[in-house]
Amino acid sequence: MSKRYVSTRGNSPTRSFTEILLGGLAPDGGLYLPEVYPQVSRAELDEWRGLPYHDLAFAVLSKFIDDIPSADLKALIDRTYTASVYRHARAGDNPKDITPLRWLEPGLGLLELSNGPTLAFKDMAMQLLGNLFEYALDKTGAQLNILGATSGDTGSSAEYAMRGKHNIRVFMLSPEGKMSRFQTAQMFSLQDTNIFNIAVRGVFDDCQDIVKAVSNDHAFKEKYRIGTVNSINWARVAAQIVYYFKGYFAATKSNDEPVSFSVPSGNFGNICAGHIARSMGLPIRRLILATNENDVLDEFFRSGVYRPRATAQTWHTSSPSMDISKASNFERFVFDLVGRDAATVRALWDKVDGGGAFDLSSTPNFARIAAYGFASGSSSHADRLATIRRVWNDYGVMIDTHTADGVKVGQQYQEAGVPLICLETALPAKFDATIREALDREPERPLDLEGIEDLPQRFAVMDADATAIKGYIAAHA
Ligand SMILES: *Cc1c(COP(=O)(O)O)cnc(C)c1O
Repeated sequence: MSKRYVSTRGNSPTRSFTEILLGGLAPDGGLYLPEVYPQVSRAELDEWRGLPYHDLAFAVLSKFIDDIPSADLKALIDRTYTASVYRHARAGDNPKDITPLRWLEPGLGLLELSNGPTLAFKDMAMQLLGNLFEYALDKTGAQLNILGATSGDTGSSAEYAMRGKHNIRVFMLSPEGKMSRFQTAQMFSLQDTNIFNIAVRGVFDDCQDIVKAVSNDHAFKEKYRIGTVNSINWARVAAQIVYYFKGYFAATKSNDEPVSFSVPSGNFGNICAGHIARSMGLPIRRLILATNENDVLDEFFRSGVYRPRATAQTWHTSSPSMDISKASNFERFVFDLVGRDAATVRALWDKVDGGGAFDLSSTPNFARIAAYGFASGSSSHADRLATIRRVWNDYGVMIDTHTADGVKVGQQYQEAGVPLICLETALPAKFDATIREALDREPERPLDLEGIEDLPQRFAVMDADATAIKGYIAAHA
């Protein structure tokens, strides 16, 4: 069976994996998904159980990719998932596991997804994306200029994935002086000549507006081969499916035991990968979606109403990577929820794209939420502090603010006899101010990142002016 991708809006031709690798939205404005989800048999699960991460990643991703020769795909994955790339494992963990499972107590585990170069789970997919992009561009000799806006995690993860890669340059806009010193240092200390940090005199939304303005200039976009690495990229979602399998195997002894996952969520990319793993046949009981005060997704899963917020109603919280008012991957799940009826998705997103909301509460589709395993909850700053303290006092483990949201909401749904795996989406070193507030101590920081704030920094400062930034790209592309 060939592995084709369809748009959630139903008006784009089907595509292969590499055809959608470098792109973003489908031409009809939808998101790509596999035409059918590949299924995993019991025999395959039994076979996969003992595989090391890179072999498991190859087995899973081969089910989604049929236009990269197997040997090439294998080599690329083997280079990505190594103990030297994911080198920040905690003391006592086996770094070769890539995503070690740490039990806090019997039945309650943390799946460590943040041991990559930038200490956040985005590295799990982005490192693979860097190698896939380089491979695809080497084939054609084409160049790609990645333009992005970041308030922290995505930008640094993209830069560490793309640094030194042939035919790729990264132009990353960030609001001047608004990121933490650690995050700034992580990005600005990169000396690679293909990485361009632009500190914009403005706020994050100004940066995002510039990216939109440049992307809407189709002539410029084409001439300079402008691309993005945002969370709607299908390859990122696909790469994240792997660790649901890995976590499942680590938490169980046989392939008929159910497991639940709790997922700190913003753009719905991470938990969407869990939904797909479950749809492939992995015995996941619950997918527990955790939000912070920006609870647009929690509201939907409780009420059936999806009501994206305006920027002015998006709160700046102490789990900032989840400060999302509109979840860019959510359309993928709704496509499945409405029975893959693209006309329904088009009608719903007509409302969303027009600044409105939709309500599925009285439809039979909404009643199927439970059948898909979803449950949800939200937490506050006070909850995060309490959870960080509790996990530290009870288990001697320091968790970051995003992971704390996941632990708090996950435990509300914990069931006897079903292991609960909380996804650790960042390390506490990234969010030192809240750690100090909660624990009155400094977070642990990996040794190789000691003193990173003192390294020389390489960046340009520019006004929030799309024309000037286009000029900068043209001069350096
Ligand atoms: C991006 C991010 C999230 C949210 O993940 P989504 O895939 O957008 O739902 C959660 N925690 C951290 C630390 C992140 O960087």
